[in-house]
Amino acid sequence: MTAQMHDKAGYFDAGASTDMASPLEGERPQFEQPVFTVTELSDRLIFRPRGFTLHSKEGTLFNLTHSGHSLQVTEHLEGDSTKSPQLGDETYPAWEVMKQGSGPHNVPYFRNPDLGPYENWSYANKLAFKVIWKSKSDGQWRVRMLQRHNIGDMLAPQPGALVSYAHGTALYAYLMRATWPSKPDFLPYFGRAVLHKATRNSSQQNIQLDVVSGTLANLQGPRFSLKVMRVAMRGTVNEPLFDNVDGPWAALDWQWLDDPSCWDPSAGGSVSNLGHIKDDIKKRKACDFCYIHTQSKDRSKDVTCERYGQHNRCKACVARGLPCSWTATYKIFGSDFMKESGNERTGGTLHKKAVALLIKQPYNTAATTSAIIPDPGFQSVEV
Ligand SMILES: [Zn+2]
Ligand SMILES: [Zn+2]
Repeated sequence: MTAQMHDKAGYFDAGASTDMASPLEGERPQFEQPVFTVTELSDRLIFRPRGFTLHSKEGTLFNLTHSGHSLQVTEHLEGDSTKSPQLGDETYPAWEVMKQGSGPHNVPYFRNPDLGPYENWSYANKLAFKVIWKSKSDGQWRVRMLQRHNIGDMLAPQPGALVSYAHGTALYAYLMRATWPSKPDFLPYFGRAVLHKATRNSSQQNIQLDVVSGTLANLQGPRFSLKVMRVAMRGTVNEPLFDNVDGPWAALDWQWLDDPSCWDPSAGGSVSNLGHIKDDIKKRKACDFCYIHTQSKDRSKDVTCERYGQHNRCKACVARGLPCSWTATYKIFGSDFMKESGNERTGGTLHKKAVALLIKQPYNTAATTSAIIPDPGFQSVEV
């Protein structure tokens, strides 16, 4: 990481924009094959690439390369055909995209935590990936949602450049034939898809395919804003969240240790050595994000809180585009936080909220197991 990173944050804050017009725009040959068939439901669009017979051992279910960037969804072909498609199985992947105004998908493929430093952060969680397959061995059709495994990956040493964010928003823009008015240079650009939209014509009892023309959505840009995060993390007067947000480095208030209404030392066992217990608690050196991360079972991997140069931010928070905050331990974990084991504290309403906002990357176990379905009749909508 270099000192430029911080300057970059300011650069985006100022709302500077990069022209995002595709070099391919206007040069697309008329005979280009449509990439997806699109079906529109009330709250979402379903994008289906052509079905195929799975013949790669890596289990490549979706592979999009455009303008020099690629996005691949692969799945280990573990277990048998009841769990995931196997070599030789008829395979039909699909992306589901929630419409604007419909909120996030409840099984997002790209797993972003709730809070992020870009104004288009939430769009990545509007996408879900579904695979439908017909087993060669038992002839059954099955369906399964997939969710990204490697959720802590950073794309590049840029603020907020979680792969889940960068790939998710790029694919969203690609599928929705949309452009962002500005983009950070790490955001992969997939250009525009050639889409076919399938609609059921009930009077003629068939499926009608139309080329989707024009832009489906005109979207706000991925403008970086530490200010937005600062406000979100401070909360409101009625519902304050974190203390000392983007303030002095490691400035933690310990006065609450002398206030019996704030915490219960007896919950941790003997109080005969209260001074020692207090000294132990004061050993905390991590900001809220890092501290919650290391104390929570929802962590994706351990992080260490290391100050970034002389800035009032740690490296982990800089990389994720977050300001550091320093909140009293009892506020995060509840007044009986001494009850919890040192490695996995879960108490406290603020902790639950903080994990959901900053750390938890949504996963839906029930939805990612396979289920048998009737023959979906894909042949009728194949282009
Ligand atoms: Zn930290
Ligand atoms: Zn931090």
